[in-house]
Amino acid sequence: MAIPFFKEMRIGGYLLKQKLLGRKRYPLVLMLEPLFRCNLACVGCGKIDYPDAILNRRMTAQECWDAADECGAPMVAIPGGEPLIHKEIGEIVRGLVARKKFVSLCTNALLLEKKLDLFEPSPYLFFSVHLDGLRDHHDKAVSQKGVFDRAVSAIKAAKARGFTVNVNATIFDGHPAEEIAKFLDLTVELGVGVSMSPGYAYERAPDQEHFLNRTKTKKLFRDVFAMGKGKKWNFMHSGLFLDFLAGNQEYECTPWGMPARNIFGWQKPCYLLGEGYAKTFKELMDTTDWDTYGTGKYEKCADCMAHCGYEPTAATAALNNPLKAMWVSLRGIKTTGPMVPEIDMSKQRPAQYIFSEQVQKKLSEIRKDEALAAEQKAARKASTAA
Ligand code: SF4
Ligand code: SF4
Repeated sequence: MAIPFFKEMRIGGYLLKQKLLGRKRYPLVLMLEPLFRCNLACVGCGKIDYPDAILNRRMTAQECWDAADECGAPMVAIPGGEPLIHKEIGEIVRGLVARKKFVSLCTNALLLEKKLDLFEPSPYLFFSVHLDGLRDHHDKAVSQKGVFDRAVSAIKAAKARGFTVNVNATIFDGHPAEEIAKFLDLTVELGVGVSMSPGYAYERAPDQEHFLNRTKTKKLFRDVFAMGKGKKWNFMHSGLFLDFLAGNQEYECTPWGMPARNIFGWQKPCYLLGEGYAKTFKELMDTTDWDTYGTGKYEKCADCMAHCGYEPTAATAALNNPLKAMWVSLRGIKTTGPMVPEIDMSKQRPAQYIFSEQVQKKLSEIRKDEALAAEQKAARKASTAA
């Protein structure tokens, strides 16, 4: 998912309005997951480990539009699962664009070329293609050969049709900085913007060995940025977020900045971490105990430096301190010298594990829905026969 922070005046205007209204917590990007089903099974994915009955569920187009209206964020990112599997995806995107939402459709691109006709180029729409690195690296990350070539071909086809395309890369431990730098050179050749984020250590991801810890993340990004001096890598991030990744800013996350809505409801507290669900956006904002989440507060947040938690923090920091933001963008990312001190982890509360409980609850709702639908169908049939 790539979010062109500050590249659009409307986002800056929205931020300023929230500040003038004195709002403490407000959303910047709605993370809309209309389905969890995917046509890949990446080793670092924490989104697809559900029973079939849940993977078969879809949010309706109306539910998607209602979520966007309810939350009011100026941008909607559509990850998943794989959104292009959703039969109504063209309609969903059209409805969001009609609402003048900036839409980032996140896709692994396997279906992109085939489905381009569902969409129309618009300044409000961009595709964000999942590409974790160069050919061998990406194909290994997604556990399937040939995916890199198909994604690159789809990027070219979409660009040729006038669509804006970015790529999003999740970075894991063991990815050499030199290779990441070559991958970033490739994005320049392809003429696409890029967003990069260290992978969040999803508890349900099949590969638990390769998530980066905070120290390794900062060191790796410093090495990568040092190689980028003088190059034209087009990051879809604010300078302060990149500076944070390089260990030069001490930030706490802003979990409500990118709230997630999926088939379970509004996810507490953030896109990465499912610790319960609210029925409405208002309920999410009012009933989540925000102070109990974040690095240093909760074990599951210990190594998180993901953009969906920290980009909104960086955006607010830039708004509150534009001179600092300007200085970082003029100076570039500092890749040497001491880093800011690490957050104290000694008082974090222990992790709670409620995944199975949530899945069981959803499954029993699905069974009830199905039983009700069957009853209604039988009643209709009986009344037609009578
Ligand atoms: S493409 Fe995305 S949603 Fe699908 S398995 Fe990979 S990481 Fe998960
Ligand atoms: S640190 Fe913040 S953004 Fe990251 S998982 Fe925890 S609550 Fe979510």
